[in-house]
Amino acid sequence: MRFTIEERDHLLQNLNHHQRAFLTDTMIRGRRTAFANAMAKQKGFHLPDDASFEEIEALLEDWIYVSTYDAGYVSHDLRCECGRPLRYQHRVEHKTTGEVKKFGIEHLKEHLGIDAAVVAAVKKGFDAIDYELDEILAKAASNWRLDPEFLQVDEIPSDIQTHLDHGLPLLERQIARLRDRRRKRVKPDLQQANVAPAYQNQAPRDLFEWQEMQQISTSDQAPQIPISDLFRLPDRLHKHVQHYLNRGIKSARIICELLIKEHGAPNARYITGKPHLFVPLCKHIENHHSDYNMKPLGADDRSYQK
Ligand SMILES: [Zn+2]
Repeated sequence: MRFTIEERDHLLQNLNHHQRAFLTDTMIRGRRTAFANAMAKQKGFHLPDDASFEEIEALLEDWIYVSTYDAGYVSHDLRCECGRPLRYQHRVEHKTTGEVKKFGIEHLKEHLGIDAAVVAAVKKGFDAIDYELDEILAKAASNWRLDPEFLQVDEIPSDIQTHLDHGLPLLERQIARLRDRRRKRVKPDLQQANVAPAYQNQAPRDLFEWQEMQQISTSDQAPQIPISDLFRLPDRLHKHVQHYLNRGIKSARIICELLIKEHGAPNARYITGKPHLFVPLCKHIENHHSDYNMKPLGADDRSYQK
């Protein structure tokens, strides 16, 4: 479902002020994340799926997305770098020099001088965000209601709760997550039981899995060198980890990338792209920063928050 700009304007008018403000803010944050993602991927960073723009931007040195301005109509008050009047003006800022550029999306490539592949990735990301806005507007217009059964989960994810608080419909991907949580809630024992045998028949994907395999099969084997001695986080990195946690960087994967980029930490990686540094880092944080709570983010990342 894609609406024209006129249709979208009309449907937005049917929402209340808080709903419109929330959707605008969500779109800008989404664009900021999509832009940072495209820039970071081009530089070869491997990012966890749910990294926030604050975290991704910490890895970048050049352009970061600031905001979108909407004049409501094509206006001479909002112009592209080349002088062309715009309705929607995008602004980016250079992280190192502080230079600000303002442009219409069609001239993203011309005025920023960035790679065509990055431009395509940014546009694709922006399109996906528009698509989700249209999904919400279409559902709101058809008086969409959520089946309350879906909310029978242990914890409603905060982004979903925010939609509910604003009286806005959920996206299909959010509903899929609720469905997934419900399934896990119904059969937790069954899923647990499946873990151990599966591990024994396959090579570990990375060090985390390898470690878990070791823990599962410790009983009747020769004593092993404690893994903590083999994989310690170098002392010289400790203060930098403290600094990143203080700055609110939550993702262990991102902290690894920052240690590699800014402090010359070893850049060896598993085939999955995960740095060898990952496990020592997690162990270090969990042993030395117990005021931070760990939350697993799938198999590939851990988040630490006070
Ligand atoms: Zn232009």
